[in-house]
Amino acid sequence: MSRFTDILMEIGTIGKNEDGSITRIGFSEDYKQAVALTKKYMEEAGFTTEIDTVYNLHGYLPGTDPNTKSIVIGSHLDTVIKGGIFDGCLGVCAGIEVANRLKEEGIKLRHPLELWGFNMEESSPLGGTFGSRCVAGMVDINAEGYKERLEKYGITPEDILAARRDVSEYACYLEYHIEQGDKLFNEGIDIGVVSGIVSIIRYDIIAHGISNHAGTTMMANRKDALVGMSKLIVKANALAKELDDTLVATIGKINVSPGQENVIPNEVVATLEVRHMEPSVIDEYIRLIKKHAAEIPDAEFTFQNTVSKYSTPCDSTLIETIKKVCEEAGISHVVMPSGAGHDANPMAHAGVPIGMIFVPSKDGLSHCGAEWTEMHHCDIGVDILYRTVLALDELMV
Ligand SMILES: [Zn+2]
Repeated sequence: MSRFTDILMEIGTIGKNEDGSITRIGFSEDYKQAVALTKKYMEEAGFTTEIDTVYNLHGYLPGTDPNTKSIVIGSHLDTVIKGGIFDGCLGVCAGIEVANRLKEEGIKLRHPLELWGFNMEESSPLGGTFGSRCVAGMVDINAEGYKERLEKYGITPEDILAARRDVSEYACYLEYHIEQGDKLFNEGIDIGVVSGIVSIIRYDIIAHGISNHAGTTMMANRKDALVGMSKLIVKANALAKELDDTLVATIGKINVSPGQENVIPNEVVATLEVRHMEPSVIDEYIRLIKKHAAEIPDAEFTFQNTVSKYSTPCDSTLIETIKKVCEEAGISHVVMPSGAGHDANPMAHAGVPIGMIFVPSKDGLSHCGAEWTEMHHCDIGVDILYRTVLALDELMV
């Protein structure tokens, strides 16, 4: 265990359940306890700290050059219900280690260094990446029923507005996170240099058939919407595998009407979610799925686009810097997209150049008690983050 992993284990296990998993929902007492302990370690490392109006934690370490903008390190301190130790907490604790190491080595950065621990990154009634969207000014306080939802957490629309920061004040945003997928673990690679956060496109696919008596309608004469949808689901899965290595497509929800044992289904609605870094690959996939759907004899299909969240590329200078740091340190690495959303996403949308560093998740598991990253990988990642901060301090204006 290192100084870094000791702190990570202490903060990361706040909210531990009997089965070993962690529950530290945004705004909960356990979350606030984690904020308090993180704040204490941040202050010991030299940061001045502040808890903002939506319970994000901010730390500030001054630089030597007053004309420079801050380098920000950030991630989140909340977890899902029955989540793990590393998701989010790793990146916040890493910022403390960066400051401790600067102090230990007697290095003063030219740029101010800021460390942000965000509240409620995980999905909630307030929407995912809540804390970072507040900072980026991306929360729609006028959305229907939003004020009432905020009240349940003891905050007001004014609190949301007060948490906003002028992101043009920041040089860049760095997030160090577990991969939450199995690529690095399976391929035995130490570091993922993130190219960007993938696009997420969702459709409702509706299969239209004809309802009739399940006993008297002969097989040759049926228009069974569920049989049609089943064929499309199998095709959707195979096509995603064929088209591109990093394309993922999921049909995760299905609704059958009228949903009775003795009636041929006349309508099936299924959700299709597709993720990839390049919107053009997703477009091609959707085009092919629609073409195949038209050839399925059992049902007529219609497609309704419900969600289009376009990809967020990481900054090319930051990608190159992290790659170079890995090369110089002799650490195996690969440039790869992030299939999951992160706090870096709202930061990028607000105009801050973002860079992300991934370390392997054992068996690709996350959002569960079995979420694990080997201690030596945690240490490699924080070392790469530290070296990246030093390199950017020289490189950036
Ligand atoms: Zn996370």
